[in-house]
Amino acid sequence: MAQTHILGYPRIGAQRELKRAQEAYWKGEIDQKALRAVGAQVRSQNWRAQQQAGLAYTTVGDFAWYDQVLNHSLMFGVVPERFAVDAADNKLDQYFRMARGRAPSGAPVAASAMTKWFDTNYHYLVPEFSADQEFALDSEWLLEEVREAQSLGHNVKPVVIGPLTYLWLGRGVENPLDLLPKLLPQYLALLAQLADAAAQWVQIDEPILGLDLPAQWRDAFAPTYAALANASGSKLLLASYFSPLRENFDLAFALPVDGVHIDAVRAPEELASTVGALGRQQVLSVGVINGRNVWRTDLAHWQRALAPLAEQLGERLWLSASCSLLHSPVDLTTESGLAESDRQRLAYARQKLDELNALQQALLPGAAQLADTAKTESRSEAEVRAELANTWRAQPFSERVAVQRARWELPLLPTTTIGSFPQTDVLRQVRKQFRNGEISTQDYHDHLRAEIAEAIRRQEILGLDVLVHGEAERNDMVEYFGEQLDGFIHTGNGWVQSYGSRCVKPPIIAGDISRPQPMTVQWSAYAQSQSKKPVKGMLTGPVTILNWSFPREDIPRAVSCLQIARALREEVRDLEAAGIGIIQIDEPALREGVPLRASGHDDYFAWAVGCFRYTCSEVKAETQIHTHMCYSNFNSIMDAIVALDADVITIESARSDLRLLQVFAGEQGGYPNEIGPGIYDIHSPNVPERAELVARLQQLLEVIPAEKLWVNPDCGLKTRNWAEVGSALLNMVEATRTVRAGL
Ligand code: GLN
Ligand code: ZN
Repeated sequence: MAQTHILGYPRIGAQRELKRAQEAYWKGEIDQKALRAVGAQVRSQNWRAQQQAGLAYTTVGDFAWYDQVLNHSLMFGVVPERFAVDAADNKLDQYFRMARGRAPSGAPVAASAMTKWFDTNYHYLVPEFSADQEFALDSEWLLEEVREAQSLGHNVKPVVIGPLTYLWLGRGVENPLDLLPKLLPQYLALLAQLADAAAQWVQIDEPILGLDLPAQWRDAFAPTYAALANASGSKLLLASYFSPLRENFDLAFALPVDGVHIDAVRAPEELASTVGALGRQQVLSVGVINGRNVWRTDLAHWQRALAPLAEQLGERLWLSASCSLLHSPVDLTTESGLAESDRQRLAYARQKLDELNALQQALLPGAAQLADTAKTESRSEAEVRAELANTWRAQPFSERVAVQRARWELPLLPTTTIGSFPQTDVLRQVRKQFRNGEISTQDYHDHLRAEIAEAIRRQEILGLDVLVHGEAERNDMVEYFGEQLDGFIHTGNGWVQSYGSRCVKPPIIAGDISRPQPMTVQWSAYAQSQSKKPVKGMLTGPVTILNWSFPREDIPRAVSCLQIARALREEVRDLEAAGIGIIQIDEPALREGVPLRASGHDDYFAWAVGCFRYTCSEVKAETQIHTHMCYSNFNSIMDAIVALDADVITIESARSDLRLLQVFAGEQGGYPNEIGPGIYDIHSPNVPERAELVARLQQLLEVIPAEKLWVNPDCGLKTRNWAEVGSALLNMVEATRTVRAGL
């Protein structure tokens, strides 16, 4: 009989209890003992869920007070000097200082860098290596959790990140692979400890096997795993996920490990080759339940697809989710407001465990074939691509810019902002009252208009050139549109960890998307009525709405993206008709959807860029299209950025050096249209000095011609307060005037 297990489980708790406890601890509201108790409770619930669902193994080691990669940094002694612990008994505060720069004890210090975990929306803390890096094993937390689970009666399978993936994730030395000879002995010691702790199996995650790896890294696998296998008293399950193994397939299956896990959701085509590649004793773990989405699995399909494998491999076939369930919401039974028809279609982490169990039963000899789920007919990607081709503005930028300049008569170095203004406590309060039905729509809308009028008034006083309405009506740039559009499901408790205690609740794309009515027009039109200066219309782009939602699995992502683009095109049309002459379409998540493997890039950009262009394909030449992206590393995607052909792009750059500007200014032809590199960092409460901003602008002018340069902060201002925003923008406007005077 096939066995069942998972690679990991969410650790936030079904009601986000860990998040609440962490934040309470950081604020000094609860002590460490209380925090630890919540952690222990979450762990025991997670383990019990696995046991109840009949999984053969309970996965341990996936819990973290903040991040699993940080767990490993502490386990191997990768602790930069600034985090040195003062009181040896307070390791947890040291951990939090590494994660977020502060903790109830110890002095504040610069936190570790954080970045995205492969192509997910989870962020990990980047291991910070030094040239003279030494490692020292301190695995007590993991051994303790193993004992804790064993004492609760679990058949424990510890999980660790493999040495090569761990090194790959780190920074600070030219080639982290050089550190392998020093790190490897720590792993050997760790495996010995886990075997002593009676772990029959240890899961080792090496998701970098799904990347385009340099030869040097590929070559490191065989000797590394020979050493690990040799030293290990436990059996080793090598797990890779998120991406096909492809040229690393043979390599992975040839390693001297006792089992291999593959992501059959992302790489179903690789399933067929597995049996031939598998050693006689080896276990094959197939991830067939999508760990990154919320839909029920088509179990009938997998029952058919896996039947031959189940027969051939028996107990050596393990059924699993594609990746850790960290990327799924926790438990559907906590949802109270969902329509029954929607609920029927969904599975969160807890329900995915039951799906594994159901699949296991369905693969027993003689089990009846499960009923097929209805399939939707949908357009193919080829049809989408055909519709996207040739949908672009009639005039090239060179012609548009002339009419736009004549229309707006903006000064050189026009000043603007990225869209949102402070979301004040009062505004949040009023929104909450509206959602709870305590105030009428009329009252809520009156309040929003007052917020907008106030934002316009402030911008007029500051002397900005292109105004924004401030986004008072949105709590979130994707959720707002998801709520306005048809085709989305909104959950009450579909939270997924993004980083530390931060969780996101992505809307679910559940059907065909359409726009029943205008979404932003009344707010933009009202804002424009309050000023003679241009007010930018403000939309979230189709790729960002898609990438920050749970997508459908029954149709290609490109098809959903086109549906969103169509809805946004209608919105753009209505904004234009309402007299809005500048429209910004934000795409901060464009880069996020880029496939992990370079071979998929062209395909992705073809439809992603096509959908963006589609949204504004009908606008008049005199209407100016802006876009915004919250990052500055455009190295590999510059062609796509240029292809968007927005009249103006604003980007984050305040924290990055001039490397970025070189990309924009010229090396590869540069950015042909207008550009506003953020001149100060809005993520910090610090108000930038005028002189500093003057210097920054002058620096920018060395690489970007004055007639192309816009002046703006590097992102929206919703997380700041008005006092900070007022002073910062005043300095920005004054600095611009100073620089203009010298042109
Ligand atoms: N227009 C949005 C804002 O200003 C953009 C947010 C973002 O880039 N993430 O808030
Ligand atoms: Zn931004």
